[in-house]
Amino acid sequence: MPARETRRAEREVVPHGVELIHGEVAQFDPDQQAVLLINGERVTYDILIVALGIEINWSAVDGLVESLGHHGVTSIYSRHTAIYTRQCLRDFKGGNAIFTQPGTAIKCGGAPQKIMHLARQQFDARSGVGVHSSLVFCTAQSSLFPVDAYNAKMVEISERHHCKVRYRHNLIAVDGPGRQATFRVTGPDGEQGLEHLPFDLLHVVPPMSAPRVVASSSLARTAAEGWVDVDSRTGRHCRYDTVFAVGDVGSFPTAKTGAAVRKQAPVVAKNVVATLQGQDLSSTYDGYTACPLITSNHSVMLMEFDYSYKPVSSFFVNPVKERWSMWLLERFGFPWIYWNRMLKGYPHEGFLLRPFRPLARFLGLQRWQALNSPSHESLED
Ligand SMILES: Cc1cc2nc3c(=O)[nH]c(=O)nc-3n(C[C@H](O)[C@H](O)[C@H](O)COP(=O)(O)OP(=O)(O)OC[C@H]3O[C@@H](n4cnc5c(N)ncnc54)[C@H](O)[C@@H]3O)c2cc1C
Repeated sequence: MPARETRRAEREVVPHGVELIHGEVAQFDPDQQAVLLINGERVTYDILIVALGIEINWSAVDGLVESLGHHGVTSIYSRHTAIYTRQCLRDFKGGNAIFTQPGTAIKCGGAPQKIMHLARQQFDARSGVGVHSSLVFCTAQSSLFPVDAYNAKMVEISERHHCKVRYRHNLIAVDGPGRQATFRVTGPDGEQGLEHLPFDLLHVVPPMSAPRVVASSSLARTAAEGWVDVDSRTGRHCRYDTVFAVGDVGSFPTAKTGAAVRKQAPVVAKNVVATLQGQDLSSTYDGYTACPLITSNHSVMLMEFDYSYKPVSSFFVNPVKERWSMWLLERFGFPWIYWNRMLKGYPHEGFLLRPFRPLARFLGLQRWQALNSPSHESLED
């Protein structure tokens, strides 16, 4: 996809009737129902919905800021280096390609691996490059994904793509000119050591945290946790009735994705209306989230799950499987829904599937749901 296709003018996507204030929030004052902007302006509210996302801490890895965008050090987590990533993959002539994942919460838990699988496909397509490439995934986590069935499948895909996985490897320093990455490695008994790995290509996913402006406010339960402290079902703040949160900035105990926002936003919207009308909050969010793991240029495993941390599927099929149909959805369907429905605030609940609902009912199909936290071998299609 050309980079320009991923960009729109903000005024084109803001829903009709919304006044857009260009200003950075510097402070929250929920007791006075106000936010303070960086230019000193004070904006008061009846209801506040916080949607500030997650903060990417590029400088938390020594030498990363200086190296990024040069020496084969790159990341798809910024627009500029996403373009540099494409250049790095095209120019790669073989050698060590290292892909990292930090130990913190991140947005889109599958993205650190998606880029590795796409890299593998590109390298293998070029004569002599694939066989002379060693792909290593260094993750600070102790598994590839927090949902067992998806994790097992991801291990299988990594093996098939000859990608070595190193667990409990946390990137702490990058020496771009010297082409060396340093990891803090935690052993099974908690003992720690350093490991230096040479690279020809280093794809970094940096540590992330709640935005400082939230963590330092009374909206967070503690400064260390930092997220807006919301009820995980209603999205309303646990202490301030006039404050809600959606998206990555909320303390929802589920994976941080755009798909989660898609389900949270209508719930929060209904609960805001209920609050304004003095009614009880009746709309609830079940923790739904989805991460489309792109495993090649024609296959995606759409990893959907909810607060139960078991796979579910909105499409009546076993989600623990790579599918061309899900690739089509990811490549063409989701961008269209994002630009034309989500950002404009149109109702989209079940939008894609609604025309098929009568047929699904006739065939007796229901939302696919794993019942007993099964391993992927025991899931039937
Ligand atoms: C490489 C990558 C791949 C991904 N792939 C997927 C995917 O396939 N599927 C999926 O569902 N999700 C995916 N995600 C995750 C998804 O992009 C995020 O989860 C989603 O954008 C979160 O939405 P949000 O509204 O909470 O935050 P954001 O989209 O980050 O929006 C936060 C907004 O707040 C603004 N802001 C921040 N601080 C302030 C301030 N102090 N004052 C005013 N404004 C402020 C920011 O400028 C930004 O506009 C991916 C993310 C990445 C990086």
